[in-house]
Amino acid sequence: EPKKPKTLKEESLKARKEVMCDDIYKTDSSERIVCASGQYMFTDTGARYLDMRNNVHHVGHCHPKVVEAGVKQMMLLNTNSRFLHDGMVTLAKRLSSKMPGKLNCCIFTNSGSEANDLALQMAEHVTGHSEIIAVKGGYHGHLKSLRAISYHPLAIVDGQKRPENVHLVSLPDTFRGQYRDPHTAGPLYAKEVKEVIETCHNEGKKVATFISEPILCCGGIVVSPEGYLKNVYESVRAAGGLCIADEIQSGFGRVGTHFWAFEQHGVIPDIVTIGKPMGNGHPVAAVITTKEIADRYAATGVEYFNTFGGNPVSMAIASAVLDVIDEEKLQERAETVGGYLMKELREAQKDFKQIGDVRGSGLMVGVELVKDGEPDKELASIVAKRMSNEFMIFILTDGMDGNVLKIKPPICIDKENVDHFVSSLKQILSTS
Ligand code: PMP
Repeated sequence: EPKKPKTLKEESLKARKEVMCDDIYKTDSSERIVCASGQYMFTDTGARYLDMRNNVHHVGHCHPKVVEAGVKQMMLLNTNSRFLHDGMVTLAKRLSSKMPGKLNCCIFTNSGSEANDLALQMAEHVTGHSEIIAVKGGYHGHLKSLRAISYHPLAIVDGQKRPENVHLVSLPDTFRGQYRDPHTAGPLYAKEVKEVIETCHNEGKKVATFISEPILCCGGIVVSPEGYLKNVYESVRAAGGLCIADEIQSGFGRVGTHFWAFEQHGVIPDIVTIGKPMGNGHPVAAVITTKEIADRYAATGVEYFNTFGGNPVSMAIASAVLDVIDEEKLQERAETVGGYLMKELREAQKDFKQIGDVRGSGLMVGVELVKDGEPDKELASIVAKRMSNEFMIFILTDGMDGNVLKIKPPICIDKENVDHFVSSLKQILSTS
């Protein structure tokens, strides 16, 4: 009888606990991963898992073209970002060409958190205003300034007070929130933002910015309802504030119909932050704004230095990611494969009452699991565990109640992967 290959995952976990701040800086992986390719990840025993959770590895794990671009540049030159190097300009031009309107001025950073922190600084300095409006269920990063505006289990620190200049408005959730009619919910949720602005004004304070993810990812793949962003942006601008779209999860073609999720809402933000998929696993992110806002920011006398932000290797890698998205038509793929996934899930919803809602766009899809209409967090974690243990699929759960399956795979997945995922989900739901 063939012997089962030995896994070192217990040893690895034990070693991790000894040398890492493991209670804070957790791993949620039940397997010891040693390599990956495309939409698959491989364990130390050679087992192949379908990756349905990793939006970072956007064009596929270890994409040869992306890896090659990084290696080549690393062998040629890597410096800090103060040197004149065309890689930055090339990438900035390419990103600008993907943006609508006058969004053509870039600053590069290493992470989404750095990008969002800089975006907030910009908004505050440029407007001279102090108040920040963000959305409950949003997650914007791990820096102190961002934990302060995020409202998600990852960001909330027990006992820590939220700064007084931060105002959180309701998650515009049409499944579980206060307003559920998709045709009227957008403006109704947006009214809350207007009211916050009015309250600020009554207290002699002014709004610097409204920041939101057009599709709230950690909040449970909640798509901003129709008219929400349009109405909010109007109110914020009328009050002299700037609108920030956090595209760190939703950008780069994942939503299928557009390259950026905000484009689905007919708005053009003043500042856009991007990251995660931008480097396909390599740390690179950016703030993109208009020349006018950048000039107004510079006029305050501020200077920005980021040692690694915009280094030639990151630039080469991010450029290669853009190449691959175009060459392999991955945005179109996100739309067709994502559309198929959504269709299959909605079909499954008819047979399984545990599926309360299926929502999202392209390959950014949420499945909300319920029991008697209430969030079923326990079922969601059972599904995630069984997906891994029995069907060799990695999937994450999230959302304000922890009951949403958060589907955001590399956008190179195919219909067979979708079939495998949906049939696994059905099997689990019929026996859980
Ligand atoms: N914004 C959003 C929407 C995110 O999901 C994240 C990370 N999950 C961040 C910002 C922060 O990015 P990073 O972890 O790269 O700092």
